[in-house]
Amino acid sequence: MEEKRRLRRRVNQNLGRAYCWATCVETGEPCVESSEPGSNLPYCRRHRVEGDGAVRVIDHPTNKGIGKICVARFDLPKGYKMVYWGKRVRWRGCKGQDRAMSFLQNGGVIDPYDCEGQQLQYMACPGPGERSNTKCTDVCFGKTYDEKLIGREFETIEPVKKDHQLTQWYGSKDWFEARDIPRTNVGTDEYPAPQKKKRKTQKASKQSQDEGDKSGEADNLKEIDVNTAIELDVKKTMLQTVPGKDPPLTQSGPKLAPYESFAD
Ligand SMILES: [Zn+2]
Repeated sequence: MEEKRRLRRRVNQNLGRAYCWATCVETGEPCVESSEPGSNLPYCRRHRVEGDGAVRVIDHPTNKGIGKICVARFDLPKGYKMVYWGKRVRWRGCKGQDRAMSFLQNGGVIDPYDCEGQQLQYMACPGPGERSNTKCTDVCFGKTYDEKLIGREFETIEPVKKDHQLTQWYGSKDWFEARDIPRTNVGTDEYPAPQKKKRKTQKASKQSQDEGDKSGEADNLKEIDVNTAIELDVKKTMLQTVPGKDPPLTQSGPKLAPYESFAD
C-alpha cells in the first residue's frame, strides 16, 4: 500500500522521502507526486529533471565572472529542504571538481556535472560583505558505494525572500586565493544577497551598558554568536579545499562546492 502523503509541520513541504520535496512552479504548493521509484532522491522524475520550482537558475545580471546564480522563486521559509545531488565519483579526475560536494566518508564525492536539474550547484559564494543563507546537513541520500544518483541535504537557515539569492559558503577563501580570483559581493538590487550582520560598535554597546540596558548587550552578544555559529557549523560539515591541488576553472567561474578529497 502506498504511503500517505503528509506535510512537514513548519514548512509547506512533503514529509519523509516517499514524496517529492519540490514545489510546483504553477501553484507554489508542494508536488503531489511520489519520489521516482528506485531513486535515492526525494524527487519525482519531473522535478529531478526540471529542478525544484521553489528556485530558479539565472545568469548573474551584471558580473559575468560569477556565472549562474540561484534565486528563490517564492518566499522560502527557514528550513526549506533541498538536495545537492549528482553522480558518485572519485574526487581525483572528477569532471565537475569545482562543484563536487563531499558525501559519506570513503564514498567519494557528489558530482553534479551534466545534471541539468541540479540547481544548487549554481549557488554563489557570499562575498566579503555577505553571508550564506543555506547550509548542508549530515543527511545523505544513497549508500557509500551507491551506483545510482546520490545526494546530500541542504536547507535554508533563514527565510529567503522571492528573487533573493541562495548563497553557499564554499568552505574556504583559499579557493579564490589559489585561483587569483577576487571574492566579490554577489548581490544586486534585483537579486539581493543577505548582508553580513554588523557588530554593534563598542561605543554603542558601552552606552547601552551605562544606561543599564542589559538587553541591548545581550542582543549584541547573540548577534555575534549567530555569525560564529554559522561559520563553525559550516566548517564542521564542509571540508576545505586543498591549496596546490586545485581543480581547473570552469567557464561558469567561481562555483566551488566544498569537497572532501578521499583516499584512492
Ligand atoms: Zn515533484
